[in-house]
Amino acid sequence: MLNKSLIISLYFFFLLFSNIANSTNTLPDIGTVGAGALTIEKEKEYGWAFRLMANQALPIIHDPILNHYINELGQNLVGHADSVKLPFNFFLIEDKEINAAAFLGGNVKIHTGLFLYAKNESELASVIAHEIAHITQRHLARMLEQQSYSNPATLAALAGSVLLALVSPAAGMAALTTSMALTMQSQINYTRLHEYEADRIGIKILVDAGYDPYGMANFFGKLAEKYKYASLPPQMLSTHPLPVTRLAEARLRASQFDIKRIKNSLDYQLSKVRITVRYNEISGSAAVNYYQSQLKNHKYQLKEAALYGLALAHFKNENYIKAHQITLDLLKRQPNNLFFIDLLTDTSLTLNKADAVIQLLQQHYKKYPENAVFTLNLVNALQENKQYKEAEKKLELFIRSHPQHILAHLLAIDLYKTMKNRAKEHASKAQYLALQGRFREASQEMGSALVYADNKLDQARYSAKIEFYKKDDLRLKGLQE
Ligand SMILES: [Zn+2]
Repeated sequence: MLNKSLIISLYFFFLLFSNIANSTNTLPDIGTVGAGALTIEKEKEYGWAFRLMANQALPIIHDPILNHYINELGQNLVGHADSVKLPFNFFLIEDKEINAAAFLGGNVKIHTGLFLYAKNESELASVIAHEIAHITQRHLARMLEQQSYSNPATLAALAGSVLLALVSPAAGMAALTTSMALTMQSQINYTRLHEYEADRIGIKILVDAGYDPYGMANFFGKLAEKYKYASLPPQMLSTHPLPVTRLAEARLRASQFDIKRIKNSLDYQLSKVRITVRYNEISGSAAVNYYQSQLKNHKYQLKEAALYGLALAHFKNENYIKAHQITLDLLKRQPNNLFFIDLLTDTSLTLNKADAVIQLLQQHYKKYPENAVFTLNLVNALQENKQYKEAEKKLELFIRSHPQHILAHLLAIDLYKTMKNRAKEHASKAQYLALQGRFREASQEMGSALVYADNKLDQARYSAKIEFYKKDDLRLKGLQE
């Protein structure tokens, strides 16, 4: 975990960073291409670099179920947006700060703090829709382009130091201090105008996607009220200022839509419960008490979610039998639910019931071999049950179609270590490092894999990988200069 001030600094760098890469392409101004002009290809490059650096520096949650949920929610919203030029990528980070942010290359970061603070799915979706609008409207790009008029050198300097800041925070921070001061001044002015536009477009996306139009006004209103007198408001309010007029406008806009009473989706509720118990500072026993009291006093929106919370809490509290029983009951009602199947795998493996859960997972895997939750749970269960060869076969197949899946590579490292397959263990470590932009270390690991490889085919593959890493290392360095 990063410390807080570093996260705040990184956040600021990211903002600058996305400005740079968002420039050009759809800028409405004519004949005023400044030094900040970057093609969409260049933006994709920065997006690639950003993901590598984020994998290395941010506490990203690599949880297949939560990723599945957050991407379904995000892609559903994107499906109702105009001017989408790049594929979007949504990811969750474990951070209590109530925040979300959009970066270059369609990357949207969502904090667990935001997830937990939002009261319902429409509120959560409203913030994400707002961030999507910042990207489709290329707000930060336009702002930076504006700055490139006054100081053509600033952009190149910023681009380099921002990437440097991500790789090596201390060095990047020093490089940034001067250019940062230059940028800060004009930032707020642009931001206010852009905030209104992101609200206006965001609410349209929100409503078209089927959510409550008041989601945005309710969320921001609650946030503004809470931090009215706070000396240290959340980052979100400093990057998204909330004057009274902006709130009033959000309410007015919402009133122009038909009011819909939208129930929270079950997956939203289950995700929130999962974050509460697994990615939050709560002890197992406190969580058990919390959900027991919810159930006793009927203080829940959906009973299944409260029961799921109780099962997760019992598991955390090492009461595996109770966790297992509740999960089995939940599954009886909803046999295909990913959340329940995932927890049943955990409880079954702890209680030495691998055979039964493997049988269940195999059935789902046959139907959905591309589903990360079924596949990775199955691989894990097979490994626990010492069915190494089958685990290996399924994991390799999955990695072939999901080469960027960090958790899959971590499972591979563990599996090959258990199997004492040194070549593949090193090769998996290399892949894992490469996904964090650590190409030199990746080359070294792949070199070790090469030493242990006992067939020509693997040797050729590993050698080719080393060449790729060298090229990617240069490519990344090129973006940092
Ligand atoms: Zn905003």
